[in-house]
Amino acid sequence: MGIEKLLIANRGEIALRIHRACHEMGIRTVAVHSTADADAMHVRLADEAICIGPPAAKDSYLNVAAIISAAEISGADAIHPGYGFLSENAKFAEIVEAHGIAFVGPKPEHIRTMGDKIEAKRTAGALGLPLVPGSDGAVSDVEEARAIADAAGYPVIIKAASGGGGRGMKVCTSPDQLETLMQQAGSEAKAAFGDATVYIEKYLGNPRHIEIQVFGDGNGNAIHLGERDCSLQRRHQKVLEEAPSPVLSSAERERIGSTCAKAMADMGYRGAGTIEFLWENGEFYFIEMNTRLQVEHPVTEMITGLDLVREQIRVAEGKPLSVRQEDIRFTGHAIECRINAEDPKTFAPSPGTVTSYHVPGGMHVRVDSGLYQGYKVPPYYDSMIGKLIVYGRTREGAIMRLRRALEEYVIEGMKTTIPLHQALLTDPDFLNGDYTIKWLEEWLAREDAA
Ligand code: ADP
Repeated sequence: MGIEKLLIANRGEIALRIHRACHEMGIRTVAVHSTADADAMHVRLADEAICIGPPAAKDSYLNVAAIISAAEISGADAIHPGYGFLSENAKFAEIVEAHGIAFVGPKPEHIRTMGDKIEAKRTAGALGLPLVPGSDGAVSDVEEARAIADAAGYPVIIKAASGGGGRGMKVCTSPDQLETLMQQAGSEAKAAFGDATVYIEKYLGNPRHIEIQVFGDGNGNAIHLGERDCSLQRRHQKVLEEAPSPVLSSAERERIGSTCAKAMADMGYRGAGTIEFLWENGEFYFIEMNTRLQVEHPVTEMITGLDLVREQIRVAEGKPLSVRQEDIRFTGHAIECRINAEDPKTFAPSPGTVTSYHVPGGMHVRVDSGLYQGYKVPPYYDSMIGKLIVYGRTREGAIMRLRRALEEYVIEGMKTTIPLHQALLTDPDFLNGDYTIKWLEEWLAREDAA
């Protein structure tokens, strides 16, 4: 089936990103937007635009009935959900398909399996992915928990089965705390997620976050596109991402990559996916799989030359992947900075009107952003207003280019995290690639004290 008109069920830079891929493929686009986003860039550029509700996401970007109606009215034959919002909602994917519209994403059953933490871990284990040692599923009995923790070794982490966004976790350092912390984790999980189920894992003290980009055609063929290192995080939110990871050798990349690709082929996975691992002392430990396109996908595009959104759309049309594993070459180094409308020290949101705007350019510089002079950043959504991505033949070259591009980038009318990135890019640890998921918060605490 050839897609002729695609509805973009998202906003901001990712909506623009999807629009661009569509127009390069000769596909017409339908933007949907809340009343707060009537002046957004992707709404201006799309071939058609339909207002689907008031500012609150639950009434617009999460409003399934309004989105399906917009698709029917406009005659769209496909829906791309972007990331966030409805992108990992299996029910939404089912409803889209039940209306005879192509869902640009995985099969609903795979979204469902990977959305349930215990199910996801069990499936990953069965597919041969390396797991964090711990319980095989839910644990309610304290004696059982003790035996599992003894086998894994302390400290352990108690996690809510329905948890998300890094919430609902307790680290336990000794056997005498186990019972109390299990009870606490269970009741907090019940209050936050309506489900008291918890499970136990060995707690890794100082890991990196390394994720593998995978792609499947839904018919048992799958490839991997290498890794991204996303260890620079604040409150479990990624701040800067790079590919390749400063710590992996090509042999290690090949090993974990082919394990992931084989797992996806065995599963019959369709479309883009990311398998997230913690990495410590040379070992990978599966934490979760995201069944969608990621914010940081451009770093992978930079080092492989592949357009991931185009690939997603091809797969949704029932076409095979455009490349085979042996065609993929990893060349050079790419880094992405997430630019947020936030105070770079306190991280307080700082929405406002863009009074002056200048985008960096030049060789190997990419800006994915819907900003323009006069645009009013609405206060209702995520504070990310753009991404600056650069490529270099070496990591050092990419860092120099990124510094140069950040110097050129002018966004006036609000505070942004550009100064934070500028400071990070001169830190010796960062320059050496010597950082873990704990590093940024410790660095921020030191900056605060200084
Ligand atoms: P969520 O779905 O809430 O994001 P994840 O399982 O992805 O939960 O974990 C979120 C974060 O918590 C990870 O990125 C990591 O920083 C930390 N974490 C999770 N499991 C462990 C573990 N076993 N050891 C150490 N840190 C962990």
